[in-house]
Amino acid sequence: MKFYSTKNKSLRVSLKEAILTGMPPDNGLYMPLSLPKVDDSFLASLSSLSLPEIAFDLAKFFVDEEIDDNDLRTLVEDAFSFDAPLVSLSNSLYSLELFHGPTLAFKDFGARFMSRLMAVFTRDLSKPLKIFVATSGDTGSAVANGFYDVPGIHVYVLYPEGKVSEIQEKQLATLGKNITALRVKGVFDDCQALVKQALADERLRQSYLVSSANSINIARLIPQTFYYFRGWAQLKDKEKDRCVISVPSGNLGNLTAGLMAKRMGLPIQRFVDAANINDVVPEYLHTGIFIPRPSKHTLSSAMDVGNPSNFDRILDLYHHRYEAITQDIWGKGYTDDETKEKIRETYEKYGYLCDPHGAVGLLGLEEYLSLVKTKPAGIFLETAHPAKFKSIVEDIIQREIPIPERLAQCLNKPLQAITIENDYRQLLDIVCKQV
Ligand SMILES: *Cc1c(COP(=O)(O)O)cnc(C)c1O
Repeated sequence: MKFYSTKNKSLRVSLKEAILTGMPPDNGLYMPLSLPKVDDSFLASLSSLSLPEIAFDLAKFFVDEEIDDNDLRTLVEDAFSFDAPLVSLSNSLYSLELFHGPTLAFKDFGARFMSRLMAVFTRDLSKPLKIFVATSGDTGSAVANGFYDVPGIHVYVLYPEGKVSEIQEKQLATLGKNITALRVKGVFDDCQALVKQALADERLRQSYLVSSANSINIARLIPQTFYYFRGWAQLKDKEKDRCVISVPSGNLGNLTAGLMAKRMGLPIQRFVDAANINDVVPEYLHTGIFIPRPSKHTLSSAMDVGNPSNFDRILDLYHHRYEAITQDIWGKGYTDDETKEKIRETYEKYGYLCDPHGAVGLLGLEEYLSLVKTKPAGIFLETAHPAKFKSIVEDIIQREIPIPERLAQCLNKPLQAITIENDYRQLLDIVCKQV
């Protein structure tokens, strides 16, 4: 598969180049030249396939001849060693739980696939690889854990001071070794700008291979298409051709992957872009005008994004046709109060505990379902385990919740983060001191 840039449709690069550089030289975003088309027999076979089997069949198309089948099979089995179960709350209302990976969030899927692809692609290169990632929450821990102790690769995780939960900070800043955690005095968008600056820095590129690992890397997006297939496969047969999926969205990587899955032939009726008050995309869906603005802090902090970087990919996927976009996506933003109320209500009504991000997804799903007359089956993506937001959630439901073992382990370790100003020179200093 070849990839082009959203800013230059005639550019052609290999998967290896797209992944190792992260971003095209023109600052656009890489997109696959075409998408695989699945047929009815593949869809019919899905319910008997495991997630790694689905992943192998779909990944093969993107990977082409660049990785041989044996390596690819090992890679997907290692990356997707956990499932994405579809859990029923009530009749035709489902949570697709994407938090069964090592850091308890959906970003494990993208990070683990990408880190293993990069390890294969850099096996025999001479320059060390430096990876930069900006995170407002879960990306950092997923990427840090995904790359931990991989030889020849150093990872810099930039996160906004005071804007990620205590548990998230522990997960991304206690690893050490080849993982450097940088606590930036600023907001997520500042971290993202610093990463973009590093990726565009020619001097850095003379000594190192430089790449990104946030959702702008196409290697994060590709594996996120896989669990849409896995989730859909678990529906009842009669629900399969009338299904709506609500995606709690920030940087839009998850939603973009869903739209790609639909384009690949997965019969999803419509997607819901569920946002918190950082609702620039739902606003665009209503008005046709996209106005980025500084992000505001909310309970669903991993979605506090005021200028989502994957928006250009969605525009590209639909050839900038507003009508076509609104046909496939409906969107709405919700306040923290609504989110809290939804967590409480869902716990009381269904005995199901949402994290704040999943709760926003459920809010969007239920509002959309109340608007349409045909009664579709509804799935919302539960993007993080509620224990990652322990104190928020416990406050709301007024009871203690247990912490899963894999999370408890890192909570006792000391933080190893370095605090920096929102200043590129400080970042550069640190990067150049480490080989
Ligand atoms: C990153 C994240 C999101 C938002 O996903 P995008 O792909 O950036 O839209 C939602 N929920 C959680 C828990 C996340 O970590």
